Amino acid sequence: MSKWISLTDVMTARKRIAPYVKETPLIRSEKLEELFHGAEIWLKCENTQRTGSFKIRGVANKMSSLSAEELSCGVTAASSGNHAQAVSYMAGLLGAKARIVMPENAPAAKVAGARGYGAEVIQYGLTGEDRELRCGQLVQEGCTLVHSHTDPLVIAGHATAAIEVYEQLGGQFDEIVLPCGAGSLTSGAAFAVKALDGGIQVSAVEPEAVPRFTESLRAGHPVTVDMGDTLADGLRVSTAERINYDLICENVDSLLTVNEEALRRATREVALRAKLVAEPSACIGIAAALAGKIDTSPGRRLVFVLTGGNLDASVFAELLPA
Ligand SMILES: *Cc1c(COP(=O)(O)O)cnc(C)c1O
Repeated sequence: MSKWISLTDVMTARKRIAPYVKETPLIRSEKLEELFHGAEIWLKCENTQRTGSFKIRGVANKMSSLSAEELSCGVTAASSGNHAQAVSYMAGLLGAKARIVMPENAPAAKVAGARGYGAEVIQYGLTGEDRELRCGQLVQEGCTLVHSHTDPLVIAGHATAAIEVYEQLGGQFDEIVLPCGAGSLTSGAAFAVKALDGGIQVSAVEPEAVPRFTESLRAGHPVTVDMGDTLADGLRVSTAERINYDLICENVDSLLTVNEEALRRATREVALRAKLVAEPSACIGIAAALAGKIDTSPGRRLVFVLTGGNLDASVFAELLPA
């Protein structure tokens, strides 16, 4: 149990979002398994999800719960990229106007994606704090906020990815590994997995360059860390918020960090071995395994959530070997 969300919230979300999201494939990669020590490696392919990431799950749950009046005022969101695309896409479907604040250094593919689905994109600042500030002004002007990670409806929506995994494997897996940025996927998915089976190990992975939850756990309360440089643009969040911190404390067994080199290698290995285009943020779980931080011994069945596939062609080209 949690004071923030319940399994009923997650199951309700699943019904509510069914018209808007795909059930994504869960595939085993024997080629990736060759890199490890005998464990089965399963990939939950949210890179093939609508809008190219899992973000549509939480956003669809939130936005289909808004009143006609809230929608008519238009929606706003602060996002490093994939949340923006999901909000823009859903706004289009629901006939609402979207004004999205994205960082000045957002990948071109993500800015183009959000604009392509019809949103007005305002590029402002570099940090989450900058974006939240600008977004707050838009809320003052009357826009309805679709927060990317502190809204329980968004968290419950993201949790549905874990419910699908659980069903796809009939509950038979030992560990799930979750990329962790602001922590909304981790909050929801870890909660759902533990609610279904407390014996399944839940790991979350964040970049060594921006270890907000590692530092928060150390401090015993949510903290803000310096914004280091990481290729994982979906994980560039310096502040841990209370709701995510609490859910992570309650449900995550191990919080790991990985360096940039492992992240690069993981993105390349996922592309060349699993034949999947997944962005660096999505490959951070595999990076943790490559760094020896996940138990990959024989007989273990591991699930890695490939959270998204929106990456700039230039970044992808640079990662592939010559
Ligand atoms: C948003 C995002 C994450 C991180 O999710 P949080 O809920 O912010 O922790 C990871 N990977 C991708 C591709 C994302 O878009």
